[in-house]
Amino acid sequence: MVGSLGLDTVQTPFDKVENALGGSAVYISLASSYFGGSVDLVGVVGTDFPSKYIKLLEDHSVDLEGLQIVEGKTFRWAGKYHYDLNVRDTIYTELNVFEKFDPVVPEKFRKAKFICLGNIDPVLQLKVLDQMENPQFVVCDTMNYWIEGKREELIKLLPRANVLIINDSEARLLANEPNLIRAARKIREMGPEILVIKKGEHGALLISDEFIFSAPAYPLEMIYDPTGAGDSFAGGFTGFLHRAQDITPDNLKSAVIYGSSMASFCVEKFSTKGLEDLSYLQIQDRYREFMKLSRFNESE
Ligand code: AMP
Repeated sequence: MVGSLGLDTVQTPFDKVENALGGSAVYISLASSYFGGSVDLVGVVGTDFPSKYIKLLEDHSVDLEGLQIVEGKTFRWAGKYHYDLNVRDTIYTELNVFEKFDPVVPEKFRKAKFICLGNIDPVLQLKVLDQMENPQFVVCDTMNYWIEGKREELIKLLPRANVLIINDSEARLLANEPNLIRAARKIREMGPEILVIKKGEHGALLISDEFIFSAPAYPLEMIYDPTGAGDSFAGGFTGFLHRAQDITPDNLKSAVIYGSSMASFCVEKFSTKGLEDLSYLQIQDRYREFMKLSRFNESE
């Protein structure tokens, strides 16, 4: 997997935290680390990246051979959430060491079959994909920053993705279409056969040729920090499918629920704290609670 590793400054209506651990690659790695497969990370940080965060990833058995530590400043992002936590403003994005990043996928990672292209410049996502020998299942994430800033490059990448994961406003932006179902059709015509649309506290939709699956959101009383929910979803989704090794409709539906479970753990605490000390048992418990949420009388 590839993505950003960074230091986030996040303000919610309830609290503020500066230079906390963040980045799409970090959330994806931590979330997928609970599903048993090896998590091979490709990314870059500056020399100012605290070593305790490297240790945290190592403690979650993330293979960091593809992590470059270079002279300069680590990626930084700042965001501010509104009272409606589904609405977020980006205050700044400092690419820093990502500006000159030339990803090199270590030899031993190149045979990986399951690839998660976390939210980062689509040019870098493509560079990583080009180095893989025989990718069989490619999950891709992106965000408004790249849809607006690197649209052409993103459109070049999409035919090579099996799954695109984006949120509802990004889907509307990418397709230039306000209706989500029509937007989904347009996006799938751009390449990915499966589209997952995340709808914040309203759950997620998986749309394929064969079926549409709607997953509820977990009704949390306290959402502490929504940052990283999308990436945690992508980590849980890909991690589960890698564990299952079989892309059936039922496994795709389970993957959406495992992704949603990881996102729900993520938002319960600030930064990556909600993903740091989980057990697979806890994750399965939450999966079962998700099942109960939308089970209804099927005999009617
Ligand atoms: P999410 O809340 O899932 O959209 O992900 C938030 C994470 O994405 C934060 O930890 C940020 O550091 C990271 N992020 C924000 N903007 C970008 C960007 N333009 N490229 C890569 N990562 C980003």
